[in-house]
Amino acid sequence: MIKHVKRALQDYWGFDSLRPLQHEAMESVAQGRDVIVVLPTGGGKSLCYQAPAVTLPGMAVVVSPLISLMKDQVDALNECGVAGARLDSSLTPDERRDIMCQIENQELKLLYVSPERLLLNGFLDLLAQAKLSFVAIDEAHCVSMWGHDFRPEYRRLSVLKDLFPSIPIGAYTATATEQVRYDIAEQLHLKEPNILIGSFDRPNLTYKVRRRTHRVKQICEVLDRHKKESGIIYCIRRRDVEQLCAELKARGLRVAPYHAGMDAEARKASHDQFIKEEIDTIVATVAFGMGIDKSNVRYVIHMGMPKSLEHYQQESGRAGRDNLEAECCLFYSGGDYGIWKSLTRDMNEQAQGIALKQLNEMYAYCTSASCRHKSILAYFGQTLENADCGACDICLGQLDSIDNAREVTQMILSCVLRLGQQYGAAYTAQILAGSREQRILENGHDQLSTYGLLQQTDKRSVHDWIEQLAGQGYLDKVGDYHVLALTQKGLQALKGEVTPHLLKPVRSKSVKTTKVSKDSWQGVDHTLFETLRELRAQLAKKKRVPAYVVFGDAALRDMARRRPSTPERFLEVKGVGQKKSQQYGEIMLTAINEYCTDHAVDMDIDIDTQLP
Ligand code: ADP
Ligand code: ZN
Repeated sequence: MIKHVKRALQDYWGFDSLRPLQHEAMESVAQGRDVIVVLPTGGGKSLCYQAPAVTLPGMAVVVSPLISLMKDQVDALNECGVAGARLDSSLTPDERRDIMCQIENQELKLLYVSPERLLLNGFLDLLAQAKLSFVAIDEAHCVSMWGHDFRPEYRRLSVLKDLFPSIPIGAYTATATEQVRYDIAEQLHLKEPNILIGSFDRPNLTYKVRRRTHRVKQICEVLDRHKKESGIIYCIRRRDVEQLCAELKARGLRVAPYHAGMDAEARKASHDQFIKEEIDTIVATVAFGMGIDKSNVRYVIHMGMPKSLEHYQQESGRAGRDNLEAECCLFYSGGDYGIWKSLTRDMNEQAQGIALKQLNEMYAYCTSASCRHKSILAYFGQTLENADCGACDICLGQLDSIDNAREVTQMILSCVLRLGQQYGAAYTAQILAGSREQRILENGHDQLSTYGLLQQTDKRSVHDWIEQLAGQGYLDKVGDYHVLALTQKGLQALKGEVTPHLLKPVRSKSVKTTKVSKDSWQGVDHTLFETLRELRAQLAKKKRVPAYVVFGDAALRDMARRRPSTPERFLEVKGVGQKKSQQYGEIMLTAINEYCTDHAVDMDIDIDTQLP
């Protein structure tokens, strides 16, 4: 089986190897065994069912929750030369009839359907007559109430196993919790499924966290690093989306808004502009979510803190699905914490407890001084092998620790004690920084022995240190007013028995590039890459498919690296299979040839080093 898969990978997708667990996942369905595949976004779940579907006799049915997801995937399959189709409510009666014919004539390798359609009686009868290879359930976490996208109709998919007991089912998801996994097996009536769980680390993503100070300036610093590249900016509220979008537009940036308050048409227009790369950046609430399959999102900026690390992982995970380098920047403020907390007020006690726990973990992530990759993995119960991830603000040394953390901590903690553990972080920071504010003078707090102890530092940085101490468990925030109080650990730090980690106030420093970034750009002629990108946009427009469906960024970079001169050489490019080569080989080769001649650049470069 695996020999056939290798061949198909080369011919249809132009890939030369499998990613971790893809082999095991494919083998399971091929051997008739149910399987649950948990891989992070960008881990390559689709290939786990697409490749065996192509090589096994019969047709695979793929259940997918969104029309836009199905459309993208089917477009991409057809571009690779795979016989795939979708049945959904957006088709005309003629189109539908045509697909029914293809099913009856056994011409299809993959059929995508929504759960609603699959469950129609007539449809199940049709499947009973067709020769099914296996059933793939995409976004399988939708069956679980514990997941974040619960879809009641997914629960009824259990009839599949009851009706077709000998047909294997594969369930695919990026949601890692054990509860969800258990639910998937249970609800879909899977038979002793093979459970495959990949590492949740996304080494190509660089995580950075900063306190939000100057919104637009901070965003523009990120956008400057990604000229002409696609990205997402998430805001918590709709009005933030509107406002920010207007401000960025006024600066001449190519942006569009997206939130649930817009009418469906306007939303679709923004979505389409983003997919077609007519704009660079979409400014959105989390309503812009599942169904964004765009593989070359190079940055995800959060202008507010999400309510849990799981949400953050999902949302930031939309960057770099093509496994090329991408950047995830989170700008938070203590106010974000307040917004989410106020939303928990009407919950029942249990739900509130869970929500607050998740919120605190999220806030601790923001204010912490430890590796971001490690922190996220730890949340999912996994560990990172390397001591240094090489791809987060902490490990890249963009945030240095201060040398006298022990003394600074003692000053802060004793100030909290002097204030009788009755004041919040902002007020405490003001005292330490020696503020002359009216309220402080009225309270006589300028007379405290700790007043002005940190007056060399501005009060925002002192505030950050307080948050860092809270994030590391030295201080607690108590009650509605978040009054600071020392914990047991805090008492130890006060005595100098333990030393917390405190970060130096941030000044922008030169940005070190990450290893993934260096590798994936190695040998690439940037100008040629840009030229090919424009050509890709034109081709995509003509064919009415998203740009990345024509060629992914990885394939374009490889072209601009190898600079092939012949069709044979063109086939060596990663991400170019037979069909793509036939369709676009000539036009791409002409462009490459022209560029290289004009600029006296070498062609047919042999790549023998192992590239990502
Ligand atoms: P997921 O559904 O898990 O988020 P996708 O199936 O969209 O991930 O795959 C992410 C990207 O990785 C796609 O651009 C896909 O073409 C690419 N990819 C998947 N498997 C491989 C492989 N074995 N070799 C090279 N690229 C791959
Ligand atoms: Zn790190």
